[in-house]
Order: sequence, then C-alpha cells, then structure tokens
Amino acid sequence: MDIKLYNTLTRKKDNFIPLNGNEVRMYSCGPTVYSYAHIGNFRAYIFMDTLKRMLEYNNYKVKHVMNITDVGHLESDSDEGEDKMEKAARKENKKPYEIAQYYTDIFMQDMEKLNIEKPGIIAKATEHISDMLEFVKEIIKNGYAYETSKGIYFDISKLDKYPVLSNRNIEDQIAGARVEVDPEKRNPFDFAIWIKAPENHIMKWESPWGLSYPGWHLECSAMSRKYLGETFDIHTGGVDHIPTHHENEIAQSKGACGKIPAKFWMHVEFLQVDGGKMSKSLGNVYTLKQLKEKGIEPLAYRLFCYTAHYRTSLNFTFEGAMSSQKALNRLREGYLKHKEGNEKIDKSVIDGYKMRFLETINDDLNIPSAMGIVWEMVRNAEKSKQIADLLLDFDKVLGLDLINSKKYIEEQADIEIPEEVLKLMEERKKARVEKKWELSDKLRDEIQNMGYIVKDTKEGMTLEKM
Ligand code: AMP
Ligand code: ZN
Repeated sequence: MDIKLYNTLTRKKDNFIPLNGNEVRMYSCGPTVYSYAHIGNFRAYIFMDTLKRMLEYNNYKVKHVMNITDVGHLESDSDEGEDKMEKAARKENKKPYEIAQYYTDIFMQDMEKLNIEKPGIIAKATEHISDMLEFVKEIIKNGYAYETSKGIYFDISKLDKYPVLSNRNIEDQIAGARVEVDPEKRNPFDFAIWIKAPENHIMKWESPWGLSYPGWHLECSAMSRKYLGETFDIHTGGVDHIPTHHENEIAQSKGACGKIPAKFWMHVEFLQVDGGKMSKSLGNVYTLKQLKEKGIEPLAYRLFCYTAHYRTSLNFTFEGAMSSQKALNRLREGYLKHKEGNEKIDKSVIDGYKMRFLETINDDLNIPSAMGIVWEMVRNAEKSKQIADLLLDFDKVLGLDLINSKKYIEEQADIEIPEEVLKLMEERKKARVEKKWELSDKLRDEIQNMGYIVKDTKEGMTLEKM
C-alpha cells in the first residue's frame, strides 16, 4: 500500500518510495546533552519512533541513525553565544564530557521509559571530529567556504539557491536583523562550519587552522553521510530546525557532494505550554520525572502525543495528560477484556479494522485517526481474542506496550494484593465477561471478606483496601 509523507522540501505530501529497495535510511537530529531533555523534546523523539515503527510495519527495514550533540551547539542556533556544553560545565563545575555522559545516560533511560526503540546507530559528535574535518576540507576544496579570524565560514552566495527548505525571505530578514553582522562575513547568512577556539575554550581539536571545534550543523552532514551515504531517504527534526540547522546542513552537503542529502525532510511541530513555546531557554519545561510525580506514566505521555497530528502544535496541560493516563488505563483494561473474551468475530470485520488502520498510518502518519480505530475496537461489545491480537499488532506502531497491560494495572494499584485476592479478581473478571452476574456478586463479597473493596469503574475494576 502507498505511503504518503509530508515533505518540507516540496511542501506537500509525496509518495514515499525508498531509494534502495526494501531499505529505508533515516537520520534524526538528536539531543544536545547539556541538560535534561524535556517532554517537548520527547514529542520529537516519539514522532521519530512512531514514523520508524510505521515503516517497519510496512515491512521496510529501517537503518536509523541519531546523533548526540556534545560539542559545538552555541546558545543561538546561528553562531552567537557560548557553547551550551561548556556553559553547563562551568555552571555545574564539571568537565563537558562528564556533563555529556550524565545527560546522555538519563536521556537514554527516558527513551526506554517511553518505549522508543533505540536507533541502530547513535553517533556522538565528539567521536566524529575527523569525519567533520574531512567534510570541511571538501567544502573548502569545492570553493564554498572561506577563512576569517573566527573560523571557516560557508559562503551561501555560491549556492544555486538558499534557502530551499523555508520560505523565508533572506533580504527582509537581513533588513530586520537585530544582531550586528560580523564584518568579516561575505554575506550576513554565511555560517561557521569550523570555529577557532578562544584561549579558555575547553573542547578543541588540532586542525589546519589551529585548535578549534566544529560548528553545530556540521556534525549531522558528516555523520549522516558516513553512515547512510551521500543521499538517503528521510531526515527528521523539529520545526525549529527548518530555518537554520537543516537549511545549513543542506548547504554543507551541497558544498561537499553537490547534493541535497535527504529525499524527505520531516518536521514535528512544537509542544506548547499555556499556548506558548515550551523551551529550556524560557524555563517553562517539564520532564518525565515531574510527570511521574503527578501520577502520569511516560507511556501516558506517549498517548497524550497521539491526541494531535505531528504537524500541528499540541498544548500541554496536566489535566490533558491526566486524561491520557486514564485513557491508557482504559485501553489496557479494554485489551485485557478482549484477551479474555471468547466471542468469534467475522474475519471481514477484523480485516476491515486492519485495512483502515494501515491506510490511516500510511497517510502521513495520522496517529490521532488511527487511535479512533483502536477505540472503536476496544469498545466493540463482542469481546474477542481476535481483537486483542489485532491491538497487539497495531501496538507495533503505537509502542504503548499493551502486551504488559496486566503488569501496569497491578503496579498502578500500588498496594500489595494477596495472591488469593488476585485470583478471585481474575475469576470475577471472567465471570463479568461471561455475563455471570450472580457469580460476579458472590466473588465481590468474597473479596470484601478478605478486606478489599472492588469497584467497577469506566476504567475497569479497581481494588481498595478497607
Ligand atoms: P535540542 O536538545 O534543544 O537540540 O532539541 C532536541 C529536539 O527537540 C529537536 O528536534 C527540537 O526540534 C525538539 N524540540 C525542542 N523543543 C520542542 C518542543 N517544545 N516541542 C517539540 N519538539 C521540540
Ligand atoms: Zn542535526
């Protein structure tokens, strides 16, 4: 079945066909590890993971690379301010490498909690300095860069077109720019690909231009080419990457290889808070840990992200996230009810669900609509293992770990329930599925005699100690 994906490069939904047979090569811009990743960042990685899962569901083999920025990302995405890693290191009185390791570890743990599959290749910028240096030399050799007292700059006037991703009008922007343009630059939008390190700069490497370090955009050009080749299928990132980071990546690759590296450029819209941007610099960010403290599981946050299409912004509120937690509980209960059900559903109904789900996810990853189909299945009055199996099949894309529903429900109960009570609960669940109401009431009384109150709520059965 066709897959259509919105491509920022062409500004429309294009038919997706991999460049190389059954293999999809995909590169995702990863985190800058100077602080905790916030839930806004994770919206981007949940999108990346769901996209990859959708491609795998369509039987493609995905070669996935994600970078870790541990050097060179200055405070602004263009060339202003201090290196974020070094700034954090000074603040925390640690070495930049220690900062990078600490936040990378936590980032990876959070990815796991969100059930985000680890990309096959995780490439750290500091481990690819020689590849980047090579890239700079090629750009210079091809006449696309020049040296100033500050570093090596990319000369955008040498390109056939700049920008190609965004509609921004360079002239207007230059006129309205508030920052003073470096007089050594040939064009105001020229950007540093290699930066000469000031005396007190910690992270620096030998180069033909003395001790220096790479510009932020360079790592993605060099590492994507190293692992995926000069041209590959998909490049992902947040919408904030469109005007500068990805534009400059394209410029660099054109400078070195004469090609736009990726065929599809896909961008996820921002998670907002109180209607405004959620970002570290504004100080209005939440982490998964803070959500957990309020009783919202990472997977509930994943489900919350499915309430909006990836190309529309999503406003975060704790009430909204709590609704997703309740919805997740209902989904787990619903899955278990079907798992325990005995009814036989016509194959055409099951095939219908499957076809609609596939059509929906293949239409530019329309997960909110796909969730509509999931809920329809959960609500199906006929409780059947066929639906439970299909929910697990769809979960290959959704990544909600439904197979472990029972475990999560028990953990949620947050009380140590004796085996005997659990057994009675199971029997009662079965009785209710089989509509044996008398037996169900009898079992409820038995459970009560053992000191527990059973309640039948919309979210399923709950248990409270008396
Ligand atoms: P950073 O660590 O700042 O380089 O950002 C990592 C990723 O998170 C990038 O893909 C950004 O585009 C993305 N990102 C940052 N803030 C948000 C947000 N509020 N909502 C969605 N994605 C975001
Ligand atoms: Zn990048």
